[in-house]
Amino acid sequence: MIWGPQRVPYNPGSDWGNLMGLFSRKGSKAQVIDLRERAPRPVFEFGLPTPCPECGGHGYLDGIDVKRAIMFQHCPACFAKWETAESDLSVT
Ligand SMILES: [Zn+2]
Repeated sequence: MIWGPQRVPYNPGSDWGNLMGLFSRKGSKAQVIDLRERAPRPVFEFGLPTPCPECGGHGYLDGIDVKRAIMFQHCPACFAKWETAESDLSVT
């Protein structure tokens, strides 16, 4: 016997409709995940220099007191000096 095209039932709107629905749902879901992964995190990390409180320039990390969890920094632009405690970084 010859398998002709008439043996395959073709119902446009049923199978193809379901496939299109699945694809569109998958696409929108992936976009939401992308946005969450690329969310900005403006939180300062202990051990990294913080901006200068005087002029807003990049701070230079002079040293860290590990016992008290304090960073000693100065500003190369305006020569200001300041200390930043780890507890200060978590509070915004
Ligand atoms: Zn400065």
